[in-house]
Amino acid sequence: MKYISTRGNTPAKNFTEILLGGLAPDGGLYLPEQYPQVTRAELDMWRGLSYADLAYAVLSKFATDIPAADLKAIIAKTYTTAVYSNGRADSDFSQITPLRTLEPGVHILELSNGPTLAFKDMAMQLLGNLFEYALAKQHDELNILGATSGDTGSAAEYAMRGKRGIRVFMLSPHGKMSSFQRAQMYSLQDPNIFNIAINGMFDDAQDMVKAVSNDHAFKEKYKIGTVNSINWARVSAQVVYYFKGYFAATKSNDEQIAFSVPSGNFGNICAGHIARMMGLPIGQLILATNENDVLDEFFRTGVYRPRGTKHTYETSSPSMDISKASNFERFVFDLVGRDGARVREFWSRVDAGSSSGNAASDIAAFDIKGTDYWDALPKFGFASGKSTHQDRLKTIRKVWEDHGVMIDTHTADGIRVGLLQRRPSLPLVCLETALPAKFAETIQEALGREPERPAAMAGIEKLPQRCVVMDADVKKLKAYIAANAPQ
Ligand SMILES: *Cc1c(COP(=O)(O)O)cnc(C)c1O
Repeated sequence: MKYISTRGNTPAKNFTEILLGGLAPDGGLYLPEQYPQVTRAELDMWRGLSYADLAYAVLSKFATDIPAADLKAIIAKTYTTAVYSNGRADSDFSQITPLRTLEPGVHILELSNGPTLAFKDMAMQLLGNLFEYALAKQHDELNILGATSGDTGSAAEYAMRGKRGIRVFMLSPHGKMSSFQRAQMYSLQDPNIFNIAINGMFDDAQDMVKAVSNDHAFKEKYKIGTVNSINWARVSAQVVYYFKGYFAATKSNDEQIAFSVPSGNFGNICAGHIARMMGLPIGQLILATNENDVLDEFFRTGVYRPRGTKHTYETSSPSMDISKASNFERFVFDLVGRDGARVREFWSRVDAGSSSGNAASDIAAFDIKGTDYWDALPKFGFASGKSTHQDRLKTIRKVWEDHGVMIDTHTADGIRVGLLQRRPSLPLVCLETALPAKFAETIQEALGREPERPAAMAGIEKLPQRCVVMDADVKKLKAYIAANAPQ
């Protein structure tokens, strides 16, 4: 399997060649040259597999240049009960992603039983093991630099902690994360994990990461890499649980189902799109946004209009407070018939909007209404909707009162929009993206009580914390990396 860029100007590469990198050299994102197809016979065979065996079946179609025995071992080490058993006490951890039925035809796929209680662990844990494997083979090292507003950074740290050849430098906005999120990250004592709290907002931290990454000499010298959601291996690992969720919610491979997916960077739902392109019978992919509804607007109107950071609201589902969905380009590439030139044209407008400040970014970046692309959109199966703070509170309350299940704020957005947008004939699987323990304040507001917390996380706020505070100064960041990543 070879990988090509959404902007059409990069030679095709292997899975392991794109594993440690980020964007393609032409600024695009990598995708398989063609999506591997899953036959009906394969679906029938896969239905009974354990999560690890299913993950091997799916991922061996993507990672064709990793020897089978090696890939199997990496997957076996990743998808075990030992890694995915930190979630709800009443979950069936043996399933890795247990399906919880709320009522006939309405389910939650539990993806948050990993070490940081969010779905990002599903892919990130695999990435940690893949990176360690690839670096050992190449006798190389990697310094991962990232910015987080909470979930991504902690998932990355728990995936990379103690891994040979890897260090993590993770920037977070000082004082902007919940005390639980802070405790999760800053309490890690592994010597290869470096937490850096930036005096500023998430976007300041993100800009620092970009500045360091744009310094190619520094990047090369210090072997700087990233683990953001555009990483292809992450997306491919997420494809697996769409298959697992489908098998868990259906009795035969003749059935179609709907997935509803709380969306920010379009990474999670992009994996659903790929599963569908591979032949999984997904009737509907329902995209749920919060008040930052750029993606909902696109699917309703054909206009893609990133708002710029000043017009991106802070909401109670903060992991979806995103203006520019970094994985969206992958879907648009398929939508425009894999025409790299068209993608380049669209994104030259998107990028122009961002660099000239917020006023300019309010101008429609691109608009497909009235084009063949708009006519082609329905065949991809998307529906969309947005959920507000009040919707979120109501949904958390309703699911708690009707079913005795406590859900987090992002999952609530997905359930809310999923129930409104689903075709009633389709069973609905709502992807759980985090556990409520991570968002105590809003749970308190919705239910008047503290969220349930897995036993393993009791009192983590009291553990000693390890982090340095830094001004939003790129020079200081580079000096810190140079001092802690000796050459
Ligand atoms: C990352 C995240 C999302 C958004 O997922 P994308 O892949 O960025 O669309 C939603 N909810 C939670 C809890 C997350 O951590």
